[in-house]
Amino acid sequence: MTQSKTTTTPIVRMARVNKHFGNLHVLKDIDLEVQPGEVVVVIGASGSGKSTLIRCINGLEEFQQGHIEVDAKELLPDGKSARALQKIRTEVGMVFQQFNLFPHLSVLDNVILAPMKVRGWSRADAVETAERLLERVGIADQSAKHPGQLSGGQQQRVALARALAMEPRLMLFDEPTSALDPEMIGEVLDAMRELAKEGMTMVIVTHEMGFAREVADRVIFIHQGEIVEQAPPERLFDSPQNERTRNFLSRVL
Ligand code: ADP
Ligand code: MG
Repeated sequence: MTQSKTTTTPIVRMARVNKHFGNLHVLKDIDLEVQPGEVVVVIGASGSGKSTLIRCINGLEEFQQGHIEVDAKELLPDGKSARALQKIRTEVGMVFQQFNLFPHLSVLDNVILAPMKVRGWSRADAVETAERLLERVGIADQSAKHPGQLSGGQQQRVALARALAMEPRLMLFDEPTSALDPEMIGEVLDAMRELAKEGMTMVIVTHEMGFAREVADRVIFIHQGEIVEQAPPERLFDSPQNERTRNFLSRVL
């Protein structure tokens, strides 16, 4: 990470965030800052709270204590920040494990829908942007098809183009390749790698450790709702300091 990134205002600032599902304490005193242009990869066992953590960032989950700022807009506990939430949702793009495309719309219509409805763009402007983005993720020739006619890897690249069409300040990824056949993982990771190179701020939950090592500025290991260790990838993967990190890595590497 360069010096300039450490001195600017963070895009994400989470302070002492606690989240419960009933009796289950899912996030424990999470402190996390993400700087503009930074790529943060979140790793940890299934059920450790990774999805909950990133879903809190765009208000898909409420939390009970602490606070979260996204691009200087503050989310408060128990969902008491409806206006900030609306703004944050338009500025934060998310790509899920299950692509969540609208099945009844064409690829092109999937990508232009939010810019037209939420941003108020004309159809012509939205189409121009969509075509450029679909080209960029390598599926310009699929734009008239419906999601069901595409492979998983193609659908996930549509989902990426759709998120980018909103010109997000931050992109969140929740295991974007976990539902893909192995031969399609590479094409999605390639598109994400490009995005990282272009300077997009990204928080990525993934089990693709090779990819994490290559693109992450920082890797965060979360265990039972706590950030146990965080470091640049070479340090976290090659000389983890915490025993729980070592245990986890010995099982996945
Ligand atoms: P991960 O993404 O690391 O697998 P999650 O954030 O999905 O973990 O889940 C963390 C914990 O919270 C798990 O124990 C999970 O069962 C629980 N959990 C997740 N979502 C809900 C929910 N909507 N209601 C109750 N418990 C949930
Ligand atoms: Mg998850």
